[in-house]
Amino acid sequence: MNIQTKAEVLEILKMPYEEFNNTIRTKAKEIHINDNNNSADVIALLGYDNICKNQCTYCGMRAGNTGLKRYRIDIEDVKKTEDAVKELNIKRLFLISGEDPKYNFDDIVSMIEHAKNIGLDVSLAAGEFDTEKYKTLEAAGLNEYVLKFETSDKSMFTKIKPSTTLEKRMKCIEKIKNSNMMLASGNIIGLPHQTLDMVADDIMLMKELNISWAPIIPYMPVPNTPLAKEGGRGSLETTIKEISILRIMMPKVNITAQQPGEDLKNGLADVQGNLNALNAGANMLFVDMLPQALAKNFKVIDNRMIKGMENVDRLVEISGMNKIL
Ligand code: SF4
Repeated sequence: MNIQTKAEVLEILKMPYEEFNNTIRTKAKEIHINDNNNSADVIALLGYDNICKNQCTYCGMRAGNTGLKRYRIDIEDVKKTEDAVKELNIKRLFLISGEDPKYNFDDIVSMIEHAKNIGLDVSLAAGEFDTEKYKTLEAAGLNEYVLKFETSDKSMFTKIKPSTTLEKRMKCIEKIKNSNMMLASGNIIGLPHQTLDMVADDIMLMKELNISWAPIIPYMPVPNTPLAKEGGRGSLETTIKEISILRIMMPKVNITAQQPGEDLKNGLADVQGNLNALNAGANMLFVDMLPQALAKNFKVIDNRMIKGMENVDRLVEISGMNKIL
């Protein structure tokens, strides 16, 4: 089975779920078993700073949200956390923050260098930088930069990310593509007023960019954000369909398996939500390194709850997949 055109993608997005489940989903899982040895790939996650200068209308960490307790983890504590990742035998670390101009850039470089020195592969999401800074990150040994385009629809992008433009975002993505770093990127699924046609465009863009990791997630409204007034959560079924389409279109791509289930209270640690994603071809599971007191304040989406290694072990046991640290 091959999916190549937007028309084919759209046909699957519109397909009755049961038909999708019996055909496309089964095929996607089969590809993951055959091409990737049915791996459940573990990555440690550290949201080291929840301060952001931007005003994304869906995000709980937007500058305008005064109700959130803000924090910056200083560089020495970040390095200690990196050592703890190493002790857990996890080989990959995802560092993520808001766009905080006051977090010293040299410290970001230093946290990458320390992680590399102790043998970790590092992904970073810290927003839009100029060419020189991306080059510095590349020189520090950063393996992958995570910069989501969120939506490829220009007017929707303008609405949800008023602090930047789609053009500027795509220029940053191009800079990353022109470096030795891998590019992780993707969309938010089920934004208010988003159509399946737009989702199909997003999927085609992920394919065109030849991304290394699809950090995709359904829209989960954060109370008191402007976008929350315009619509509820994104469709889980469309999310699962997108996962399978991506697995078939890009057999080797990493895809976030930490997906929510029906009950939003369980956040991204919902066992059934995670298993549904794994059964659709997703492979990437997070271990959250943030202390619990801070974790609830890293709030790009609502109910971000992820949990630690015991959750991963449980999922691996139930799914029968092969855990890769
Ligand atoms: S989505 Fe990212 S850039 Fe936008 S407000 Fe939230 S943390 Fe800042």
